[in-house]
Amino acid sequence: MSHDPTFPVTETVTVESLTVVCDGGGGALGHPAIYLHIKPAIGKVCCPYCSRSYVASPQALTAAPAH
Ligand SMILES: [Zn+2]
Repeated sequence: MSHDPTFPVTETVTVESLTVVCDGGGGALGHPAIYLHIKPAIGKVCCPYCSRSYVASPQALTAAPAH
């Protein structure tokens, strides 16, 4: 098995909103800015570009509008 030891670990970012804009943070992992929507039932979303995990804070989940 080949595994590049320099491959970045997946970052987990706690956010205060259920809508996240991810652009990879610039640099080598940068990508065009996209909107990610966190489903309250799941509580997190993974960016398909840079594989960062965005986790909604309990506050963000509480503030989610009830549908
Ligand atoms: Zn991203």
